Amino acid sequence: MRRSVEVKIGNVTIGGNNPIAIQSMTSTDTEEIESTIKEIKELSDAGSEIVRIAVNTEEAASAAERVIEKLRGEGYNTPIVGDFHYNGHILLAKFPKLARILDKYRINPGNVGFGKRRDKNFAQIVQIAIDNNKPIRIGVNVGSLDQQLVIREMDKNSRFNLNKSSEEIIEDCMVISAIESVEYALDLGLPKEKIVISCKTSNPSSLIRVYRKLAKQTEQPLHLGLTEAGMGIKGIVWSATAMGVLLNEGIGDTIRVSLTPRMNEPRINEVLVAREILQSLGLRFFAPSVTSCPGCGRTTSTTFRELAQEIEEYISLNMNRWKRRYKDFESIKIAVMGCVVNGPGESKSADIGISLPGKGEEPRCPVYIDGKLATKLQGDAKEIAAKFKKIIEEYLESNYLSSERVL
Ligand code: SF4
Repeated sequence: MRRSVEVKIGNVTIGGNNPIAIQSMTSTDTEEIESTIKEIKELSDAGSEIVRIAVNTEEAASAAERVIEKLRGEGYNTPIVGDFHYNGHILLAKFPKLARILDKYRINPGNVGFGKRRDKNFAQIVQIAIDNNKPIRIGVNVGSLDQQLVIREMDKNSRFNLNKSSEEIIEDCMVISAIESVEYALDLGLPKEKIVISCKTSNPSSLIRVYRKLAKQTEQPLHLGLTEAGMGIKGIVWSATAMGVLLNEGIGDTIRVSLTPRMNEPRINEVLVAREILQSLGLRFFAPSVTSCPGCGRTTSTTFRELAQEIEEYISLNMNRWKRRYKDFESIKIAVMGCVVNGPGESKSADIGISLPGKGEEPRCPVYIDGKLATKLQGDAKEIAAKFKKIIEEYLESNYLSSERVL
């Protein structure tokens, strides 16, 4: 059910059979050039393949030009998207260099103007996109839906006794707003290969319904995300629940996880969560994954938890080195289990698995490689961890050595 239309955003292509791209958005004031550049680099280094920045004032537009130029000068080619609301038509016209160097414009049909000015402003932005050969994301958001459209659909509901709930009407309006805006942009001459759509809500069930409807009505690539997902566990779970269902149905060509960072949390968490969502569904692979059991009364020591954590840290510490030396190793599954109840089974279905001894079990740790018992490790926690890491290294060396490796 992936979209058939492909859209190129800078050096990234979405839609068709292209990998689902990960996006993020900066939290800095774009007028603060250095902090914006720093955050874009952090997001990009963490794996964000497209980064969006707010362009809300003339100062921000001018700063955005400097930000993009400096990034390109320093070798960062991550596509940069300008996020415009209310005054996008003015800023893009007044800052032609910005219109030229941005990789995509994001506009919200509910926020481009009101009454007759709405179509005029929308047409002006589309014309600038055509002139600069740029794609646009038509980004409908439940919090800023076109109110004239909502009144029209409410009226239709009562006149024709359609008996739709207000929730249904709002969801319908989101899809109608997106589809009508796409049709208008196409009529104005913007090619279909230049249009991406999003229809974000902040409720997972609603998001699933909206995107299922949207996917049936368009072939344009879909930018998927739960808007205003919230903080911490809530934001991660709600995003993963909604996006996981849709991605598993083939809906979504690029994703963004809209987490509110707690005061001490880095912005890059939204990128890391997006990667885990895609990897959990087997849609993309970024790093070897560690399967570990939750632990229970059958394993009273914390050794297996410490080992699982140590292996996760070992993977992230060594990823850069491994990427230079090995090829296509990112889908490796490693299991670290707490006892013999599920340990051998889970270890056998992983590429490499270890089962630590539970309470009262023989103090040996069977290690399975490609489903077969390879060895049994003994020793203290430190020795077992060192031997298990060596097994991982040997497995990579024998199975994934790249012909273009850099030693
Ligand atoms: S594998 Fe063993 S220790 Fe881990 S949760 Fe299952 S029974 Fe408990």
